[in-house]
Amino acid sequence: MAAIALIGQVFCALIGLNPEPFRAISAQIGYLLFFCNLLILLSVIVAEIWLRSDFRFQKQMVVGCGFVISCLLYFVSVPYVDGVQIALMMPAMTSLVYFDRRMLYVLGLLSIFEYAVIYYMLERGLLNKPLSEFLMMECIFIVFVVLAHGVIVRARETSEYLEQLTQSEQGLLVERAIADKLLKIDALTGLYNHKTFHEYLDSLLEQCETNGLRLQLALFDIDNFKQVNDTYGHWIGDIVLKEVAGKIGGMIGPNDFAARYGGEEFAIIFTDKDPEEAFALAEELRSDIAGMEHPYAGGRRITVSIGLYRYYTGDGKELLFRKTDEALYLAKHSGKNQVVTSGDKKPVPV
Ligand code: GH3
Ligand code: MG
Ligand code: MG
Repeated sequence: MAAIALIGQVFCALIGLNPEPFRAISAQIGYLLFFCNLLILLSVIVAEIWLRSDFRFQKQMVVGCGFVISCLLYFVSVPYVDGVQIALMMPAMTSLVYFDRRMLYVLGLLSIFEYAVIYYMLERGLLNKPLSEFLMMECIFIVFVVLAHGVIVRARETSEYLEQLTQSEQGLLVERAIADKLLKIDALTGLYNHKTFHEYLDSLLEQCETNGLRLQLALFDIDNFKQVNDTYGHWIGDIVLKEVAGKIGGMIGPNDFAARYGGEEFAIIFTDKDPEEAFALAEELRSDIAGMEHPYAGGRRITVSIGLYRYYTGDGKELLFRKTDEALYLAKHSGKNQVVTSGDKKPVPV
């Protein structure tokens, strides 16, 4: 506003639209005009520096600067420009920047009062301005305050509405994430469910065929689990399932994938591992599970049998399962509590 006012003054003076300021430059009053503009520039610079720094009272600084500029603009232009009194509303206008209703009322009243003082002290006597102009200006001030009040109320409503919208959108996102998780996870054990296991395996097998990804499948079956249920009840059986699943989930590597295949059976897909590494991890899991204590199940030892098979390019999913099942069958029928690797194909030396 200060820049526009300055440009306006120079422009008017140059094209001679209003010759008064031009003449004034050469007269005594020219200095006053010059200093007023200089002060406006200074207050803008001070306010700008203040806002760019970490100083407190930034709002007050903007209002203060608005007040100084509005007074100076008024005094610079009042002899030549009709209606320049509107510049006195500048501090109240800043409340629109902050959407601050209280600030608007205080500064609006201050401007109305300020202009009343200026009118009676300066305009009426020195400039012979009629009372009707004063009343008209005060009415404009009041209308501005009422309109600005409407703008602030509307802006607040809109921002509240947007906030609610964002919150409900966030809520929906969280709900969707939870629903997604529930669809993928087995409720009892917290491992991936059967469906997700197959989806993941399908995409990994594709990687095996196209990019030569290394993959081993292990199927786990808890030994004599029916006895656990029959002796201690299904509720205790569920606790055993949860604990065994927790051990499996906690021990696999970041590139491995564990799922509850069904009932008391679990599956692990080992990726990016040598057959020896996968076997060692399966063996470690078996012995750790066997070493777990289950006081609620009468201190009974829970063991698992594990069938392991290394996938060879071109095998296909059906063969992968048949071989892993064969290995598990062998583990079950040769004493349980052991890991057996399907030995039809010899591992390729690495
Ligand atoms: P094996 O050593 O040959 O595997 O014998 P097993 O008793 O473990 O095998 P079987 O297939 O005879 O029994 C599996 C049992 O697992 C039967 C079923 O009641 C139980 N089971 C399956 N799902 C659950 C479950 O979610 N909770 C409980 N508590 N038991 C389950
Ligand atoms: Mg079974
Ligand atoms: Mg079993």
